[in-house]
Order: sequence, then structure tokens, then C-alpha cells
Amino acid sequence: MEHMRCNKCAAQMAAQSVCIAASCNHLFCPTCAKDVLESDDPCPLCEGPITRSNIKQVTIMQNSSVLQLSLCGQTPHTIMESALAGIKFFCEQQKLNVQFDHNQLSKKFTRMQSQCKAKLEQVHQGYLQAKRRYQETVQEKNGIQADINELSQKYQQKSLQTRKLQEMVKALQQENEDLKRRFRVAVAGALALAVACTQLAACSCPQQAGSPRLLAQGPRR
Ligand SMILES: [Zn+2]
Ligand SMILES: [Zn+2]
Repeated sequence: MEHMRCNKCAAQMAAQSVCIAASCNHLFCPTCAKDVLESDDPCPLCEGPITRSNIKQVTIMQNSSVLQLSLCGQTPHTIMESALAGIKFFCEQQKLNVQFDHNQLSKKFTRMQSQCKAKLEQVHQGYLQAKRRYQETVQEKNGIQADINELSQKYQQKSLQTRKLQEMVKALQQENEDLKRRFRVAVAGALALAVACTQLAACSCPQQAGSPRLLAQGPRR
């Protein structure tokens, strides 16, 4: 859409608003025009002189019906020159609008670029942090695996020792049983020997009356 801006503060000029045009084809809102005129500064765009004599009050996008008779009474040469000046002014303003839009886009692009860069840096830092954590986790896992292997070896050694101890206990139990059996046999042998000794003593000493066995045999003849 065709529109015009103040060439100093970039404010968009509403249709029918009154502004100041300089002979260098630059346009100013009333506030900026007042500032430039009071400061005696040159045109902020082209540095051309700006004085009260080379500026003109213009109405932006004026209704064509108002302008219809404004050039009446002029020669075709003057009318053509006037139209040419108007077209040149319009072209200059359109060119400035394009530049303004381009600058705005460039600023936006630069801002977005720096935001993207910051975001990318943030993502990169996140990636590095995740990588570091992953490496730490892998190291931790390896440590745990080494502990598991060591414990497993110890468990196998202990199992082997337990089996050996169980075998030793079993052998001792067996030995104990053998000793008990031998003891019983020895006791039985000793008892039998004692009985035999008693009988022998009884036979060799008949005067020992009262012996139950001798009494049972009766008196000797
Ligand atoms: Zn302005
Ligand atoms: Zn200028």
C-alpha cells in the first residue's frame, strides 16, 4: 500500500495530514520540521540546506477533487514541470519507504540471527552437559560392573570353600560314626572278657561258697 513516512522520525503520515516537504524531496512531520528549522541543522538525510524559503507545506494523499482545479490557469509547461516534481517527490518517498522496510527487516533479521545463535549455543551447551553426564554414567556403570565381577569371584571362592568345609564335616561325621562303632565293639569285647574272667575266677576258687554259679552246680564230691 502506498503511504508516506516522516523522513526523520519514520512516523507514518495519515492521509490528508499536513506535513513539510523540503526542496531536496524529503518529507517531515510538523514536529520534526520545527526541530530542524529551529536547530539550523541541514537535512538529516541528504545534509542539504533547510530553510523556511525552501520548504513547503503539503497535504498528504490529498483528495483529487480538491486538486482538480489547482493547476488551472497555468501553461502546459508549468503543469508538466509541476507534475514531474510531484512524481519525483513520490518516487523519492517510495525509495525511502523501501529502504526503511529493508532496514527494519535487516534489524529483525539481525535480532533473529542473534536469538538463533543464542539458542544454538544454549542447545550446544545442553548437548555438552548431556554428553558429560552420559560419560559419567558410563564410567559409573563400568565401576559397578567391576564391583559385580569382583563380588562374583569372591562368591565363587567362598562357595568352593563352603563345599570343601561341607566335605570335611561329612568326613568327620563318618569318622565319628566309625569311632562310635569301634567303641561299642570294644565295650562289648571288654564286657565279654570281664564275664569270662569272672567265670574263670569262680572255677579256680571253689571255696568261695555263695557264688550263685557254684550253688547252682551243687556240692562237689
Ligand atoms: Zn517526524
Ligand atoms: Zn534532504
